[in-house]
Amino acid sequence: MAPVSPDLGSKPITEWARLCEARPMSLPSFGYQPQRVTTFSAVDLLEYQGKQFFAQFGIPVSDGRPVTTVDEAVAAAEAVGYPVVVKAQVHAGGRGKAGGVKLANNADEVREHAGNILGLDISGHITRILWIEIASDISEEYYVSFTLDRSAKKHLGMLSKEGGVEIEQVAVENPDAIAKIWIDPVDGLTEAVCREWVLAANLNPSVTDGAVALLLKLYTAYTDGDADLAEINPLIVKTDGKVHALDAKVTLDNNAQYRHEWDEYEATQVRDEREEAAHAKGLQYVGLDGTVGVIANGAGLAMSTLDVVNQAGGKPANFLDIGGGANAEVMAGALQVINDDPNVKSIFINIFGGITRGEEVAKGIIGALEMVDIEAPIVIRLDGTNAEEGRAILAPHLSDKLVSKPTMLEAAAAAVELAKKN
Ligand code: GDP
Ligand code: MN
Repeated sequence: MAPVSPDLGSKPITEWARLCEARPMSLPSFGYQPQRVTTFSAVDLLEYQGKQFFAQFGIPVSDGRPVTTVDEAVAAAEAVGYPVVVKAQVHAGGRGKAGGVKLANNADEVREHAGNILGLDISGHITRILWIEIASDISEEYYVSFTLDRSAKKHLGMLSKEGGVEIEQVAVENPDAIAKIWIDPVDGLTEAVCREWVLAANLNPSVTDGAVALLLKLYTAYTDGDADLAEINPLIVKTDGKVHALDAKVTLDNNAQYRHEWDEYEATQVRDEREEAAHAKGLQYVGLDGTVGVIANGAGLAMSTLDVVNQAGGKPANFLDIGGGANAEVMAGALQVINDDPNVKSIFINIFGGITRGEEVAKGIIGALEMVDIEAPIVIRLDGTNAEEGRAILAPHLSDKLVSKPTMLEAAAAAVELAKKN
């Protein structure tokens, strides 16, 4: 499920938001190349990781075990006690409907369900991990989430007594059933405000105290835990009256990675292959879906380059900031990544020499072209410090596959035209 749809009062998390987030990371570069560039992308947790994350903040979750084989599933069920729920762990919602959540009363049933669910394709995600947890007796299913409302510059909390189903469906069919609050991060969520919120959502009055306590913990998990999204659907009331998280959807803000031990979450991420390859090379890269490959030095220039490509009637295939050091090795790495993207029909290298001088950039590009066999035609715009010298170095190498243009707009127009021709 998408975390927040536009009709819920917030912008969807677009590529652009991701790019904007990427930006502060590379601002302090000034010719400095960080040793290890962590990924731009947010870290999506599997349900069981989300539950472990919640548990650290005192949110009640069911005891369970992550497993990867049928035998382990049976052993886990024996350890936690029957009945258990066998749950597919994939980065996709709607697992229940897809047959990825099954109740099992004994070892034979665990064996059967685990066997069926391992390998199951859920919205294009193949199930490799199962979570075996003690089954809960449910009396009510609610929905709650915290996420960032970028346009309001506040945290958005959504709470509904119509949980268990897709929240988008509730938003369309019964929007009044979702109680929303916008929380100023400076004020935080006070108990009094939280109580009003719970009352506004018309939950069963007998669970008000329990719901308030859990929601305050969830807010703390969301803020102190550096999450972009913390969603529980369903948030259940058990037959014993206790409020409990039966599902967990958590996205962590990668910019806060240095504050946490998130390596284990990183291991289960499903990422854009192009981004993986670029990040392994230490490049600031975000994959997009156009046809003009973009290489620029500096995040600001890279962003402007995307704008100019759009302005010229084209679509960028990526954002790629090579940072301050436009030497041959870095340039070759960047060209390699872009060359491996089958959607790329032309490449726009947009360099503004600052500390890095134009002739070094030009040598870097020529050197890179000797290292990598590039299929798509390249358009270069080289400006800034010693640009004249740089262009002179490029001049003997120019051809219809290596074009130089004096301005950004002319270069963009040429790159877009070449992309359309190819
Ligand atoms: P999703 O379909 O991917 O959102 O997976 P969920 O974890 O939300 O599970 C889907 C549905 O399965 C829930 O809304 C519940 O109705 C049901 N379910 C999951 N765990 C249990 C459980 O422990 N006991 C019972 N009775 N139902 C469960
Ligand atoms: Mn769910």
